[in-house]
Amino acid sequence: MRVIIVTGANGGLGQAIARTFLNESADNFVWLAVNKNSERAIKMASEFAGRCATLNLDVTTRAAWDNAIKQALAQHERIDVLVNNAGRHRDGLLGTLEESAWEEVISTNLNGVFHGCQAVLPPMISQRQGRIINIASLSALLAPPGQTNYAAAKAGVVALTQSLAKEVARIGITVNAICPGYIETEALAGMSPEERKIALSRVPIRRFGKPEEVAAAVRFLACSEAAYITGSIIKVDGGIF
Ligand code: NDP
Repeated sequence: MRVIIVTGANGGLGQAIARTFLNESADNFVWLAVNKNSERAIKMASEFAGRCATLNLDVTTRAAWDNAIKQALAQHERIDVLVNNAGRHRDGLLGTLEESAWEEVISTNLNGVFHGCQAVLPPMISQRQGRIINIASLSALLAPPGQTNYAAAKAGVVALTQSLAKEVARIGITVNAICPGYIETEALAGMSPEERKIALSRVPIRRFGKPEEVAAAVRFLACSEAAYITGSIIKVDGGIF
């Protein structure tokens, strides 16, 4: 059995990633880590009863990670894949950005990945095998105005990924990041029709991505054929540059 943890598993991308793993093989067990909202994850857990379950996890707190990992190990004694997918944004111009918007976005997107990686390293080191896939963002590479907090956090995730990959490569653990562009999930729900039009004009493929298209890249990075890929940053963005 291959044990996979997906954080932010009630969200659009988290749901697609979890479903892709569940459809990939009956041998995959997926922990759906959820925070405040859990309806979709609970539904998925009953749809795939016995092959996935929900796990309460606020990624910003170490104690929550310790509890979640303890629960996961109590059931299967291993963790093969961690997908650090939980994230949120609170956009605004830096001049007037509330300190809480800075703290919250750094804490969820960057500190959450730090805690997650540190929490799964002990089991992965004893297994001498593991895959960590961090969901960053195109904003890490092409920082847009209005996202200083989010872009800084996601750029931090990219750097963390590259640094950690070098630390654990010889132990059989790979660490990679994916930078999605515009993907059709609730995260884009706040865009006005005008903003969507401007965003679309930046995408050479001329459409927003589907969550399944990001999930496919995650699945590939977790598969055995990807064992030689580590410290990589993969853009899934319809060709924006
Ligand atoms: P959603 O808003 O649909 O999902 C985000 C998920 O993260 C939610 O399930 C949310 O749970 C969870 N989350 C937020 N804060 C925490 C926390 N403190 N602890 C645990 N979970 C938390 O967005 P997406 O599915 O689109 O985003 C998934 C990832 O992809 C994010 O990291 C995002 O930054 C990244 N991304 C998305 C892009 C897009 O266009 N959609 C583009 C680039 C990157 P809850 O609501 O219960 O708090």
